[in-house]
Amino acid sequence: MSDITLWGASLPPVEEPAPAPEHSVNPCIDAYGKGPEGTCCRTCVHLLRLEYHNKVYIKCELRKITHGAGSDHRAKWDACKRYQEGESTDDNRGYDTYDN
Ligand code: SF4
Repeated sequence: MSDITLWGASLPPVEEPAPAPEHSVNPCIDAYGKGPEGTCCRTCVHLLRLEYHNKVYIKCELRKITHGAGSDHRAKWDACKRYQEGESTDDNRGYDTYDN
């Protein structure tokens, strides 16, 4: 259906905007691709648990790490293609936090 303006001209039909591309919850999947089926970041060597002011913040060392929530990572996220099974070398390994 086309709309008619006050001046009698018809407007072109409004097209639906294209759907937004799907983004993964884990930004590393967008950057590197999806990891092995059934794996999550929890067991990846790149997952860091950084202690700061008596709190533990989970980060992925392959992302830009800031002191803000924007770089917080989740251990339960699906793994990306850079997944490497193993334990992180950080001292806080095994100290789970709010999200686990
Ligand atoms: S799988 Fe490893 S490298 Fe990939 S996002 Fe998770 S922690 Fe980072």
